Amino acid sequence: MAGRDEIELIRERADMLEIVSRYVNLKKAGKNYIGLCPFHQDKTPSFTVNPDKKLFHCFGCNEGGDIFQFLMKIERIDFSEALARLAAQTGVPIRRERASPLQKLKELNERVCVYFQTNLVSPAGQRARDYLKQRGFSQEIIEKFRLGYALARWDDLVKRFSDSLEALETLGLALRTKDGSPYDRFRDRVIFPIWSPTGEIIGFAGRSLSDEEPKYLNISNTPLFEKGTVLYGLNFARHAVRDSQTLVIVEGYTDVISAHQAGIENVVAGMGTALTINQAHLIRRYASRVILAYDCDAAGRAATLRGMANLRNVELDVFVALLPIDHDPDSFVRAHGREAFLQILHRAVPFHEFYLQSLLEDHPVETVVGKEKILQNVREFLPTLASMAVRYEIIRELGRVLNLPEEDVARAVKSGKRVGIMAAPGVGEPAWGPEEHLLYFVLQRDLPLSQLRAQLDIQDFTRYPEIARVLWELGDEWTVEQVLDRLSAEDQGVVRRLLLSQPPWRESDRGRAREEALARMRRERVARRLARLREEVRAAEQAGDRERVWQLQEELVQLLQGGRR
Ligand SMILES: [Zn+2]
Repeated sequence: MAGRDEIELIRERADMLEIVSRYVNLKKAGKNYIGLCPFHQDKTPSFTVNPDKKLFHCFGCNEGGDIFQFLMKIERIDFSEALARLAAQTGVPIRRERASPLQKLKELNERVCVYFQTNLVSPAGQRARDYLKQRGFSQEIIEKFRLGYALARWDDLVKRFSDSLEALETLGLALRTKDGSPYDRFRDRVIFPIWSPTGEIIGFAGRSLSDEEPKYLNISNTPLFEKGTVLYGLNFARHAVRDSQTLVIVEGYTDVISAHQAGIENVVAGMGTALTINQAHLIRRYASRVILAYDCDAAGRAATLRGMANLRNVELDVFVALLPIDHDPDSFVRAHGREAFLQILHRAVPFHEFYLQSLLEDHPVETVVGKEKILQNVREFLPTLASMAVRYEIIRELGRVLNLPEEDVARAVKSGKRVGIMAAPGVGEPAWGPEEHLLYFVLQRDLPLSQLRAQLDIQDFTRYPEIARVLWELGDEWTVEQVLDRLSAEDQGVVRRLLLSQPPWRESDRGRAREEALARMRRERVARRLARLREEVRAAEQAGDRERVWQLQEELVQLLQGGRR
C-alpha cells in the first residue's frame, strides 16, 4: 500500500488539466476551466476544474474531488487501480504488497481494539471504569460494545505497535509532531470502536476523561472510514429492524448503548448533526421508517432539518420523537426506563408536523413579521425536499395555521425575492446566505480564522456546523486536503463549491459583502439567544420560580439593548 507521501506526490505531479481534457472539452473561464459534465446530462457547462487547487466540481450534480476521484468515477475503477495508473503516468514509484491492504488494516484495528479493552480492565483503567459505572453501563454491555480505554500517555500505543507505525497513521490512530516523532491520537479517553454494518472495526472514537477538548474525538477519514457514511450500532441494530422495519436514530454513542442495554435494539447514531444522503441510502437498505430521537435543541436546528430532508428524499417515512426539555435518550432511559422511552417513540409525530410546530414555536404567528419569517423559512426549506407530496402537505398545513388560502401560501413561498447584494441563487449555484459568504472568505484566505473566531462561535453556523467545527479545530494553518479529509461527502461538496464559485457581488463590493455577512451572523446569533431566553422565562414562570424569572428578564433586557446598539 502506498503511503500518504506517495499519494501526495502523485497528486502534485499529475497534470489535472491534461488528464481531464481527455474526457471533457474544457474552456478557460477566469481562474477555472469549465465544460459539460461527464457525470450527468449537462446542458450548461456546470463542470469546473481548478488546476491550481487541484480540484474539480460539478455545480449541477455535486460530483467532485481530486484527480484520483475523477479517474475512479469516470473509469469506474477502485482507488488502488487509479493509484497504479497515475503512478505510471507521473513516474512516482509505489511499493506493492501481496495481502489485501484493506484486510491488513482491519486486522490491525482488531488488535488495537483488544489493546484498548485490556487497558480498561488494567489498574490504569480505574477512572474509565468509574466513569462507565457512573453512566450506568453494565459489564455485559461494556463487553458487547467492546468499550476500551486509551492510557493517559503520549506514546503507549505507538510503542506497542511500533512495527505497524505507518498503518497506525493511515488508520488515524497515530499523529506526528512538527519534528516528525509519532504520538497517540487518543490519550486518557474512553474508546468506542466503530463497526461496519457487517461487524468489522473500521475506526474509533474517544471520550475525554479530563477537560481536554473536544469532548468526543473521532478519527479523520481513512481508507476504512468515511465520515457521513457510517451509522454507529447498525451492526447490532440491523437484526432488530426486520420485524418493525423501523430504525430509531439518536445523536450519540451513549444514547445507542443505553437503549441497547434497556433492550431496545433497533437504535443507531448518526455521529454528527445532520444525516447525510449517503447515510439515508444506507438506512433505506434496512428500514422503511425512521424515528429521530434527539434532544430538543438538536432537533430544531437547521442542520438537523437538512438531515430530515435527506431521509425524506430516499422515501423513508420520517417521524420525530419529542423528548422532554433537558433530556437526551441516554439520560431519559436511565431516569424513566424502557417503557417510558417506548411510549415516547410511540407518540412520535410525522416529520412535516414537527417542522411546522418548531417554526411556530420560534416565530409568533399573530404578527405580520412572524408570518413573514415563517414563510421565508419555508421558502428556503421546501426546495430541499424532492417529494411533491410532502411539499404540498407542508403548504396545506401552513395555510391552515396561518389562516390563509393554500394558493396564497404556495404563491408566497414561490415568489419570495431577496434584496440587497445577497442575490437569490441561480440553478446549481450555492445559496449565498451569510454562512456561505463567511466560509467563502475563509476558504479563499480572505478572512483569517482567528478573526472569525473572535466574533462568532461554532454554534452560530447552523447550516454548516461540521465545516465550522473542522475549521475551528484546524486553526489558521489549515490546508484544503485537511479540511476535505475531515468532512462527509456532502459537506465536501459544499467546500468545493465555495472554493470554485463566483460570488454574487462585484469585486468592488467584496469588503462590504464580508462586513454585511459578519453583521448578519451576529444579528442572528442575538435573535437565537433571545428565543432561548424567552423559552427559559416561560419555563421558570411555569415552575413558579420568581427569582429566576427576574434574573432572566434582566438578561433579556440587556441583550435587547446590546442588540440595538
Ligand atoms: Zn455533473
